[in-house]
Formats: sequence, structure tokens, C-alpha cells
Amino acid sequence: MTYLPSVCPHDCPSTCALEVERLDKRTIGRIRGAKSNSYTAGVICAKVARYSERVHHPKRLLAPLLRAGAKGTGKFVEITWDEALDRVADEFKTKAGKYGSETVWPYFFAGTMGIIQRDGIQRLRHSMRYSRQAANICTELVQNGWIGGAGGPMGPDPRELAESDLIIVWGGNPVSTQVNVMAHISRARKERGAKLVVIDAYQSPTAEVADDVLLVQPGTDGAVACAIMHVLFRDGFADEPYMEKYTDNWRELKEHLQDKTPVWAEKISGVSCQKIEALAREIGKTERTYIRIGYGFARSRNGASQVHAVASIAAVGGNFQFLGGGAFWSNRIVYHWNKTVVEGLDVLDPITRILDMSRIGPVLTFEDEAVRKGPPVTAMLVQNTNPAAVAPDTKRVLKGLKRDDLFLCVHEQFLTETAQLADIVLPATMFLEHDDIYQAGGHMHLQIHQAVIEAPEQARSNHWVINELAKRLGAQHPGFGMTEWELIDKTLLDSGWPSADALLEKKWHDVQPSFADSHFLNGFPTSTGRFQFSADWSKLGPLGSKLPNYPDHCDNIDSATAEKPFRLITSPARNYLNTSFTETPTSKRKEVRPTVKIHPDAASQLCLEDGDKVRLGNEQGSVVLNVSIFSGLQTNVVVVESVWPNSAFEEGVGINTLISAEPGPPNGGAVFHDTAIWIKPA
Ligand code: SF4
Repeated sequence: MTYLPSVCPHDCPSTCALEVERLDKRTIGRIRGAKSNSYTAGVICAKVARYSERVHHPKRLLAPLLRAGAKGTGKFVEITWDEALDRVADEFKTKAGKYGSETVWPYFFAGTMGIIQRDGIQRLRHSMRYSRQAANICTELVQNGWIGGAGGPMGPDPRELAESDLIIVWGGNPVSTQVNVMAHISRARKERGAKLVVIDAYQSPTAEVADDVLLVQPGTDGAVACAIMHVLFRDGFADEPYMEKYTDNWRELKEHLQDKTPVWAEKISGVSCQKIEALAREIGKTERTYIRIGYGFARSRNGASQVHAVASIAAVGGNFQFLGGGAFWSNRIVYHWNKTVVEGLDVLDPITRILDMSRIGPVLTFEDEAVRKGPPVTAMLVQNTNPAAVAPDTKRVLKGLKRDDLFLCVHEQFLTETAQLADIVLPATMFLEHDDIYQAGGHMHLQIHQAVIEAPEQARSNHWVINELAKRLGAQHPGFGMTEWELIDKTLLDSGWPSADALLEKKWHDVQPSFADSHFLNGFPTSTGRFQFSADWSKLGPLGSKLPNYPDHCDNIDSATAEKPFRLITSPARNYLNTSFTETPTSKRKEVRPTVKIHPDAASQLCLEDGDKVRLGNEQGSVVLNVSIFSGLQTNVVVVESVWPNSAFEEGVGINTLISAEPGPPNGGAVFHDTAIWIKPA
């Protein structure tokens, strides 16, 4: 049996080191985790283990397509690659001739996390002066929350979870979304008797296996964090010598938290003050407390402030200084990439406008301020994302994508709902069929990948498409003349890492900084070198004034009202990854159908029973789905695990119909878990 090394490219911080069973030059068998990688440690999620279902799926796109009917009717005819690329280039040139280059908006995200195949579209954008994209749909809110306190994203080695005594998974669900985190937590529980506490808005699969769970109202985690710190100060657990040496403004923080008691937090969050007191005392007594910060509670209008408050706990407790202690969100700065050649940063014109990807609906329907000041978007190339289903405000997104004057080219693996609205569809390779390099947000391995199998029929890589379009458009940059491997090699060397061949030989490179650096014993990566209890949000974005500087409950959320008494969160489904895997038979079978989890008391008030159809709505629209009675949440909280395609819903629009495209402060970002709704029997 031949197993070849590989790397998972999906939008998941685990970036697992894989071993792929190659049956022949076009066919794979099983995929397993690499045991010799100290983070992956042989563990991967089930959806990637059965990847043969996806890579050999009968509905993969295998030839370029030209729209043959009205937009959205799904009628296409096959054309040659030359014809497809010529048409795309001609449209881009014509539109740019009429409206200026910024009328073209290349649009991408993290369908692959590979640096060559994901980010090469930027090279085309920059060399042609096309509109730029604020790539904020996923990490902007959590990242700014982290930066506001600790500075650049890095932190205690995630493998140190195995050395912890108290692990708090806050606003994340690694059982479903980052299974390796659980492998390291399991070691700590088994070998050290560590305790796992989950803080979330619902009883997620991770909460199911925890020792204790705090179920919060969405958007109130900041209050819980403040009350924990209040107790740490009040009961003498706050590490004053640590704060004196490593933080700014701790006395002001102490003063600020005087009235942020557990009773105060209970009224806001619905978490009992006894539970908050107990957890705070446990943190106070446990040096090796490791807070693993997830994305969920950041996707809120007050998300950045909430993340800042949670990270502040580890600074007040001084936990950052201990092995197995501290707080961690991502390791992204430790890779210190130089992406000049991949992204064409040397030809970027800083005056080209930036359009907000999370607001693609308002942008395409002329409701966004930035697009109103300039030319309309009349041409797009979409790679690695499916905004018709995953972006906020689905109705506006669909209205915009259906505009007859918008030329849409989608380079994809399947005929997604975005591709169905395209004028030209191009068939894309999957990760096993092309070369790339990967960083991991959730750990510390830089990894390289060489194609394991050949691409089927006419599927072509993102890199190939970008270079072919560049030729036709006359785009000038050395990166367009390079092979994938040459670009990998150049980027690695420019970034101070081993060459492509050297990295291939060793498979991955451990970039974790030293203990002292990653525990910030040499200072935090902030302007003062200290953890900032008073965040300067105005430095991080134009909406910074909407957030409080000190940790607090920031009441700028879409609160429940008499008309909209429920709060909706759209947490990830275990068998899907955004809309990836929504096409694979086993994932579909396991997820069954879109459902809304409703507390039994709320269901009884609404006269609903398990399996009943129900309509969820707000001012943006409504969706119909089935009820699942579920007691693991507060009575006015509902959960729809996602992201199902729109077509899985009875009326053809999915859950993101209800999600606002309002930008989260300080610098934008999608507020997926900050939605008030009404519920009616359907
Ligand atoms: S856990 Fe994440 S990185 Fe690992 S195989 Fe699954 S999707 Fe990929």
C-alpha cells in the first residue's frame, strides 16, 4: 500500500499533516493523520478521512462551462479552456475600458488555505489595479480582539495543552471543528487529571464531553470574563507582580472591574453567579490554566471586545508565564511570510479601493458606501469561496449576483450555488492534485505539499488559471512566469525558511518560538511590549470608537426584543466545513437536514414539537426549517448548525438570509452569531 505525505488545505486551524493512500495515479483510498507530526499526532476528522468521496465525486466539474440560458437557470454548455479564458479576459478588458479597472472585483477566500493557490489571485488584482478585498469574513473580529490586548497573534505552544491542569475552551467546538485540540486535551485529562471547561452559547459536542459547561447568552462572554477577573482581584488571585512587569494599566483595570461582579454578569449572561465564582476560583488556584480561544463568540458586534476580555483573564492571573498556561488564539504571525511574489505586493497601488467581502450583498446592490463612491462592480472572478451561501445577507447577495450587467466567472470544484449564477465556470483542482505550502493557525508547522494524484480531465489549478488570465490581460509580474514549485521555493526563501526541496525532504518545519517568546516572557508583541488592558481600538479600524477600551459588556449587539425574542447562532456542523463537504454522501446523510435547536420551554410556548416545521425571521427575511427540541441552551437561544446550501431549505434561501452584513467594529468582519429573530410555526 502506498501512502504519500500530504496536508489538509481546508479552512480549519488544524492544517493536519496527512498520509494519503494512492491506489493509482488518479485514485486515492483512505486518508489518515501523520503520526509522526507532533501536533496532528495521527488524528484527523472523519470528513477528510473519507475524502475519496469528495475527490472522486461524480458531480465534480471537469470542463469549462458557458452559461446557455438566463442567469441562474443552471443551463451551461461545455467550451474549451482557450475560449473560456479568452471570454473572461475580453469581458474584464471591456468592463475596465468602460468603467475603469476597479470595476473588476476578484473575490476569494479560504476554500484552500494553500498560500500559492489561495493568494495568487491577489497578484492578478494588484498588477491590474482591480478593486481590493477586505478579507474579513472569518478572522477579523477575533484577530483584532487578540491584537487589542496581546498584540500579534501567537502564544503558548498548542501542544502544551497536554501539560495543562485546567483547560477552558471558550467559544469553540473542537470536537466538530479542530479535532486535534481534543487529542491534546485528552492527554492532559488522562495523564494529569486536567479539567475541561467549555464556555459556549450551546451544549456543543465539545461541551458534551467537558467536566463543566457555562452556557451563555450569545454576545455576553465579555461580562462573564469581567466577573471572573473581578473575583481574581477581589480574592487575591490576581498576580500583581506579574501584571506590574508585563501589563499596562492593571490598577485602572482593577478599579474598572469593581462593579463587574458575578451577580452583575449573571443578569447579563444568564450564567449563575455561583458558576462564575467557582470557575474564577479554579482559575485563581491553577497556574496551568490554558484558555483556548475559539471564533464563535468573536462573531458578534462586540466580538473583538469579548475576545480582549477573555485574553485579559490570563494576564490578570499571570497564567501566561507557566508551562501549559496562558491563552491562545492563533499562531499566524510566527510564519512571517514575505508574499511579495505570490501576491504581487510590489505592484500594489495603494489608492485602489477596498471593498468589504462580508458586505458583498450591499456592494453588488449598490448599497455599500465604498462602491457608491466609485464605479459599480461589473465583473468578478471568484475562487475558493461560495458567497451565494456563506456570506451574510443572502437575499442581497443573490440579487447582486443575478444582476444581468455583472459578468461572473467562478473557478470551482463543484457547481456551487455561486457557480450556478456564473457566466463562465472553470473546473478547479483539489488539493491532492496540485502543489502548495501551508501555515497552520492552530499550531506551529510550516508544511509543503506535492501533488499526490493527477487532476481529472480538464480541472486546472488556481495558479494555472491566474497565470493564463494574466497572459491574456497583459498583466506584468515575475510571479506569472513561475511554476507552482518555483513560486513555493521563492516564497519560502524570501520568508527566511528552508527551500522547497529541503522542506519536502523533512515534510514540515516546526516554527514554534521558544518558551520565553511564546509565553511573552520577553514581552508581548505590542507597541509597549506589555499586555494592554486598555485596548486602543481606534488604531485597529475606523469603527474603534464603538468599543470600550477596558474589558466590559459592550451592549452594541442585536439584542432580543419583544418582536424578536430569540437570539440565533449558526455554529459549524460537524460534517460540513462552511459549504465544503455539503456535496459528499456521508456528510449529507449524517447531517440529515437543516434543523433549528430550540429549548423545550420555548418550544412548548410556541406549541412546537420535535420535527415540526418552523419559520425563523427578522427584517432581512425568513427561512423555514425543522425543529429539534434541545435543552442544552438558554430558553431564548436557538442554534442552526451550518452551512447548508440554500437549496436544502424549503424556499431556496438558507440561514445566512437572517445574518446582517453590518460590519463588526473595529475594522469590519461578519457578525454570524449576533442575530435577533422571531419564530413562528410554519
Ligand atoms: S481536522 Fe481540520 S485540518 Fe484536520 S483533516 Fe479535518 S478539516 Fe483538515
